[in-house]
Amino acid sequence: MMSNLRSALLSAIDKDRDKLIGFLSDFIKIPTPNPSGDTRQACRFVSEFLTSEGIDHEKLLCHPEQPNIAASFEAPQAGRHLTLNGHMDVFPVDDEASWTHGPWSGAVVDGYIWGRGAVDMKAGTTASIFTYLYLHRHHEKLNGRLTLTIVSDEETLGSNGTRFLLEQYPHLRGDCCLNGEPSGPRTVRFGEKGLLWLEIRVRTSGGHGAYPHLSSSATKIASRVIQDLEQLSEISAVVPDEHRDVLQPAYDHADEVLGKGASAVAQKVIVNIGQIEGGVKINVLPASCTMQVDIRVPVGLSIDTVKNAVTALLAKYPEVEIVELNRSEPNFCPPEHDLSRIMLTNARAIKGHDVDPIIGLGATDTRIWRELGIPAYVYGPSPKTMGARDERIEIEEFIDVVKVHCLSAYDYLAGSN
Ligand SMILES: [Zn+2]
Repeated sequence: MMSNLRSALLSAIDKDRDKLIGFLSDFIKIPTPNPSGDTRQACRFVSEFLTSEGIDHEKLLCHPEQPNIAASFEAPQAGRHLTLNGHMDVFPVDDEASWTHGPWSGAVVDGYIWGRGAVDMKAGTTASIFTYLYLHRHHEKLNGRLTLTIVSDEETLGSNGTRFLLEQYPHLRGDCCLNGEPSGPRTVRFGEKGLLWLEIRVRTSGGHGAYPHLSSSATKIASRVIQDLEQLSEISAVVPDEHRDVLQPAYDHADEVLGKGASAVAQKVIVNIGQIEGGVKINVLPASCTMQVDIRVPVGLSIDTVKNAVTALLAKYPEVEIVELNRSEPNFCPPEHDLSRIMLTNARAIKGHDVDPIIGLGATDTRIWRELGIPAYVYGPSPKTMGARDERIEIEEFIDVVKVHCLSAYDYLAGSN
């Protein structure tokens, strides 16, 4: 009976192959770059699709241009509560003309679906929507509750999206979260590095470029600051023994699945100077330089420890002001949790290769569940072209992600597998 339903779910996905491809392609055609993060049109698209499939849902807004969608159904038998989560906003595009197929083309060419958001994360969000749709059809055979959350504002850390939903509507949290952010087909993510976003401002009196004896240069000080921040990578993470047993295998897999060097990156503080702006003219000594600094922090270090280290490193520059923009502690949940085990089993069966639990290098909205003490797991497409020119997802990989999500949600709610 249960295995019949599992194979019915797989056949439905195979039968809907063109529908799934068409949905994702159309979803990509609706530009949702963040900034500005305006997702109204994409939200309308998802909402109309759910309505056409007879799915009750509601729009929940914190910001008028960044709506969120929530739906939830209860099965006849009591049981667990799984929440599916995906976002509609995507990275911005700054080199539109150089794309092989336009970033908002949704082109279906050469076995791929092309466009900004194909990987991060409209494919995973599509997997959540269709998983909800398929299980809704069979809700009378399930246990517990399934909730769908399709959000905005993820790329700017979710205060109008997931955080708003989980704080204002706690009944949407579930007891576990399944998310389709890019993870790569070989990994299920059970945690991720933390982040500290800073704006570092350098101010001097400035002056004529030929008179350096009268003022220091804000851009030159900034270049020294950038060099000094590299020392943050020398701070050692202190991981308790019981956590090390869980984390070490995940780190061991990182080089293999995320590229050589990933394992070291996963365990170190890393610094990205994402934006820098300073000076007004070639012969004017810059009075101001402002940097947007993204610091990623491994499990075993707190954000405060790293922030204090930044303050200490830069204390020698009276011209420098540090403004904190955002922070999120490194986080993970048990890799041996039932949902994680189910996802690993399904991904291995669908892909026919090893799939391992891992700590992600980037941040996703799943951290907001983990902050609340609710386990959250990620399985999604290969991150290789994420946020890059020619972002695209292989069609087979996309269909497999839908299958892994759908079977995993089913197994979790059926309590089987
Ligand atoms: Zn994402």
